[in-house]
Amino acid sequence: MHVFRTLTVALATTLSVAGGVSAAEVVVYSARNEQLIKPLFDAYTKETGVAVKFVTDKEGPLMARLKAEGKNTPADIFMTVDAGNLWQAAEEGLLAPVKSKTLSANIPAHLRDPDNQWFGLSVRARTLVYNTNKVKPGDLSSYEALADAKWKSRLCLRTSKKVYNQSLVAMMIDEYGEAKTEAMVKGWVANLATDPFPDDTKAMEAVAAGLCDVTVVNTYYFGRLMEKKPNLPLAIFWPNQDAKAPNTGVHVNVSGAGVTHHAKNPFGAGQLLEWLSSAKAQNLYADVNMEYPANPRIKWDPLVASWGKFKQNPINVAQAGKLQAKAVMLMDRAGYK
Ligand code: FE
Repeated sequence: MHVFRTLTVALATTLSVAGGVSAAEVVVYSARNEQLIKPLFDAYTKETGVAVKFVTDKEGPLMARLKAEGKNTPADIFMTVDAGNLWQAAEEGLLAPVKSKTLSANIPAHLRDPDNQWFGLSVRARTLVYNTNKVKPGDLSSYEALADAKWKSRLCLRTSKKVYNQSLVAMMIDEYGEAKTEAMVKGWVANLATDPFPDDTKAMEAVAAGLCDVTVVNTYYFGRLMEKKPNLPLAIFWPNQDAKAPNTGVHVNVSGAGVTHHAKNPFGAGQLLEWLSSAKAQNLYADVNMEYPANPRIKWDPLVASWGKFKQNPINVAQAGKLQAKAVMLMDRAGYK
């Protein structure tokens, strides 16, 4: 009896998607741009008759707006990239937990908030890209091996100011602890061929030009660059694939969404999230930006699939948010600009 009562309380304080009545409109605040989300929402409206209104902006202004609007916000859903940002929104009380069997079934546990306040909808892999004229795949193995002296003056990196690298280092702190991670980041810095770049594309262009031999980037930037310049001597390498080390793998992050704390239409918002995790929507959502579907049962876009399969690091992406401040301080101590 006691167990049953606890469960009832838990359900009462979270949104239950199943059985809810959806109103005719859902409002989304999105840090993903219009060309990525509009086709998706149009498809949803066509299928369900539910209108989706959206506002797009950078995640910072959107979170500030949600906070300022408080319970008067028209937003039912907050959508953004990077688990660090989603974690921040939850931390600031802007999101509400959603209880949904569909979301739990469609989105692997490491790609969603343990408290169900946000859900990854696409996976972004941050991996190694190397110059095929200068490096053999056998020379590469892991993120940490890029700290070896053999890579002296051969490494290019994007700036540590970017949340993607903060998330990468945060996840490494979770995997290895601070001391080992700091030694590794110091090794990276010692191996840099030149100052860190403002974006992933510039880092890859430097590798292609022979300024350095290897860098760390999100694969969709590789896809975009190779689409424009297919003859560049660049290839993807999947690090940390040791099958005997279960708690390692390619660093993945997500783009995702959660229902807002003051949603006017929480049931409709939950239903839209469930639909976004479904087979119908996952390819529409992921393929347009050359990302990976979060739902592991969905087939990858052929171009993305051509880069090969890889083992994901199974650490919950929420750690990217939890350990972000530590990661920023660590990179600062290590001299990673
Ligand atoms: Fe990006």
